[in-house]
Amino acid sequence: MENYTNLKIPVEMLANWQGLIEHVADIASIPTSLIMRLQPETIEVCVTNTHQKNPFHVGDAESLSGNLMCKAVIDSQQMLIVDNALRSERWCDNPDAKLGLISYCGLPINWPTGKAFGTICMLDSKENGYTDSERQLLTLFKNMVENSLTILYQQYILEEKVKHRTAELEQVNQRLIKKIDEYASAEQIIEYQKYSHELTGFPNIHELEKQFNANIITSDKNAALIHIRITNLTQIRNNLGLEYSQYITCYVAEKLKRLCPECIHLALLADDDFALIYQQHNDDLTNELMVIINDLISGLNETVSFAGQRVKLTRCIGVSLYPEHGKSFLELMHNSSVSASECQLHNRDYQVYDASLKTMLMDRFQLESQLMHALTNEELSLHYQPLFDVGSEKLIGAEALLRWHNPLLGFVGPDRFIPVAEESGMMIEIGYFVLRTAIKQLASWQALHHDDFSVAVNLSPLQLADPALVDTIQALLETHHVKATSLEIEITENVFLGDQDGVLQVLNRIDALGIRIALDDFGTGYSSLSYIHRFPFSTVKIDRSFISNLDTSLVNRHLVTAIISMANAFNLKVVAEGIEDKAQADFIQRAGGHIYQGYHFGRPVNVDDFSRQYIC
Ligand code: C2E
Ligand code: MG
Ligand code: MG
Repeated sequence: MENYTNLKIPVEMLANWQGLIEHVADIASIPTSLIMRLQPETIEVCVTNTHQKNPFHVGDAESLSGNLMCKAVIDSQQMLIVDNALRSERWCDNPDAKLGLISYCGLPINWPTGKAFGTICMLDSKENGYTDSERQLLTLFKNMVENSLTILYQQYILEEKVKHRTAELEQVNQRLIKKIDEYASAEQIIEYQKYSHELTGFPNIHELEKQFNANIITSDKNAALIHIRITNLTQIRNNLGLEYSQYITCYVAEKLKRLCPECIHLALLADDDFALIYQQHNDDLTNELMVIINDLISGLNETVSFAGQRVKLTRCIGVSLYPEHGKSFLELMHNSSVSASECQLHNRDYQVYDASLKTMLMDRFQLESQLMHALTNEELSLHYQPLFDVGSEKLIGAEALLRWHNPLLGFVGPDRFIPVAEESGMMIEIGYFVLRTAIKQLASWQALHHDDFSVAVNLSPLQLADPALVDTIQALLETHHVKATSLEIEITENVFLGDQDGVLQVLNRIDALGIRIALDDFGTGYSSLSYIHRFPFSTVKIDRSFISNLDTSLVNRHLVTAIISMANAFNLKVVAEGIEDKAQADFIQRAGGHIYQGYHFGRPVNVDDFSRQYIC
């Protein structure tokens, strides 16, 4: 899994980094700015700016055995500033000084695992201490490069997982073929044991506790309690009968015996609940656990056949560690069970316990159970926030923002409940409510106001994966006689974390209808220019975190200007979100932005207030 450090950086990502490096050199007025990449024996120029006095080229390398400032940055994992190498005993003979670059400011760049990737640095031919703003800018660009590395790493892990699972499945298939005879006899045993699980040969919870007290408490080694739950067993019992579900219990019990080495204590807690205790063998419990958990994940990822029916097992895995997460057996059991529930909720492969899980889980259960009835109880509504044209300061449209008022919980903000609606799948239905309400309202405002008035609706990643989405939007527009060009949908960069080809197809279909597509919260996610290039966006919305401190942050002023000029180059409209005062509005106007949104122009208000204030 360490091969990611050799990954080739995709061309679009390099082009994106090139843009950052050019900005650094321009803003700091220096000849050289570099992204350096660590190689086994050398450090190599990965990206460099195009200034004519810059002596570096992509691919130039220096041996790590030399006296290198970049190496010092990587080793110390801290910013290094050398204002004049010629006056420093330590740095006077470094290779950059020999090229005439005597001052240096550099930061480490790491992979998301913490492993070193290289550095980002600025070099000047004259003495330079680098201002606070220049240092902040370098830090910001370091974060952007590290965000790109996170995407690259996630893609790599995904591909590795697929490869690994395919190989595992192949092996499991081979084993299954060999064991057909064994299963035939297992069926006879199941007949015999129909009403008793004790005969699976597994200890029960009391025996597991005894083993724990005898072997773990008395030893000075760390241990882990792993909880495995077959999450669709009740469904299997309801649909296929008790005999089938008992077969699955025995099948999984047998499977676990084979998957886990002898030294692990295993127990069957209930039909669908298994637990095992693993005691640390060598020095690294985490690594040993990862091997076991990976074996469990792939080993239980299969379809089981019995009595002519095939069933795909779904499972969750929760882990608690001894003594970190509990000194007694019962405490550990409870915490691994909480982790298993969290794992199930988030559809993760596994979940290790963390103290905040308990409260989060309680809060979430409460939110989820109340949200389930929010639509039928008519607790959801839309507020609308006005959008104004920068040139004429005229109203041109509104963004629809979802609101939830629950009698028990009071007002719950969308930032809290939308993730819950996403994870539980409710967002599809809620999303249709938003689209239906907003399009209907748009039709009525267009009749009163003017045809050019438009409404923007936020779509979540889950909605984009819904095959009925585009047809439903089209049908809604037709039903309410609304032109597609009056509707804009807003998506955030989160959607690109999943199936990018699938997202591209959906967005192309939406674009083909004439609906505009905005990239929301730009600057907070991976902010990759390649998305803007590849996907049919017509608008970029600069996140309000950049606008809120325009007056104090030179870096943000530079960034906002850079985003607007980039958007103009791509022929995109720019909305500045979160404008709270006139100075911010003036800045956006001077920088060439197109649309204002923010409290300075109007807060989100309910439909009646919006109509009263802006339409009539
Ligand atoms: P967003 O789409 O970026 O919406 C803009 C957010 O900024 C809104 O927060 C708005 O009230 C707030 N805002 C606008 N101007 C200002 C300002 O001048 N100052 C400050 N401090 N805030 C301002 P809200 O309504 O809480 O929504 C938060 C997020 O929830 C939205 O961010 C959006 O991502 C999500 N959301 C809201 N409604 C929906 C929806 O119907 N579907 C989906 N999928 N997400 C939604
Ligand atoms: Mg939005
Ligand atoms: Mg936004």
